[in-house]
Amino acid sequence: MAIKQLVKRSAGWLYLNTPRPAAPLRGAGVILMLHRVLADDTSALLAHRTELCIGPQAFEHLLRWLKRHFDCVPLMDLLTAPVRAARPRVALTFDDGWRDNAVNAFPLLQHHQVPASIFLSTDFIGSRQCFWWESVGETLWGSFGAQARQNLIEHLYGIGRPVPAALLDSATEPQRSQALAQYLQSLKAMSAQGLSQLAEACPAQGTPQALDWQQVRQLEDSGLVRFGPHGASHAILTGLDDEQLEHELRRSHEALLRGCRQPLPVYCYPNGNHDTRVRERVAAHRYPYALGTRPGVWRGAHDPLALPRIGVSQHTAHHPSLLAWRMYQGARP
Ligand SMILES: [Zn+2]
Repeated sequence: MAIKQLVKRSAGWLYLNTPRPAAPLRGAGVILMLHRVLADDTSALLAHRTELCIGPQAFEHLLRWLKRHFDCVPLMDLLTAPVRAARPRVALTFDDGWRDNAVNAFPLLQHHQVPASIFLSTDFIGSRQCFWWESVGETLWGSFGAQARQNLIEHLYGIGRPVPAALLDSATEPQRSQALAQYLQSLKAMSAQGLSQLAEACPAQGTPQALDWQQVRQLEDSGLVRFGPHGASHAILTGLDDEQLEHELRRSHEALLRGCRQPLPVYCYPNGNHDTRVRERVAAHRYPYALGTRPGVWRGAHDPLALPRIGVSQHTAHHPSLLAWRMYQGARP
């Protein structure tokens, strides 16, 4: 293990296990950001998946650790209820609305009675529309066969986005996965339309990627999970003109009202991007709270329309003392 990692993990452990250093978290709340829980841990380990995907064993390990050190509370309790307990509070959030949240994450949440909030990109819910980064990433990874991979490589070449040699030629799986992660990151600069065209150039998958509305209602009926909007099309809100922004916010808001009994008054910015204009329009749609992706720990004094979160990866779920280290960094004045 790298020395730096060891130091962070040791510091994180000490932070939560000695009374004095934990004091900065008293009265604070930690909002964790997750995306997917896959069916197995091995496939979550690769670089192009690890930031957004964790496996069930790592997830359960994380839940047990959280229950040992925190009061696991619903997001709205963390944001609005007065602090009574001496223990710090944590709320789990999942972005996008992946089907595996119902299939793989929910049984573990239920078993451990840990509440969570899921933020839906509402155009995808109940449809076969695919998240571009998943479709492009897995097609290039070869998950849908060599021919589909080759077709997409040629398509990308044709639109002036050639796939890097490291992804094609690297000798080892981790190197190729790393190159793919970097390449997917570079594609984020493309327009929303261009990205959805890319997703369409990938093979159709047998099972939808996203939740459907029946699953949403089942999870909501459990009393353990609540839902909020994460855009409609997952377009980056800061890149939209006023009319598109309005349309995106209204569409996602209305879909939640139709699909849920009690949607959260919390917006979740796709990719975490927001600016003054976006925050004002979100507030105008009667969202007093909104989640970003800037790392940090919530205190009442933060801008409620730019709530900080701490991201969870396969690596940090497996080594939660690294999360404690990030909380420590985020809780420092
Ligand atoms: Zn997202």
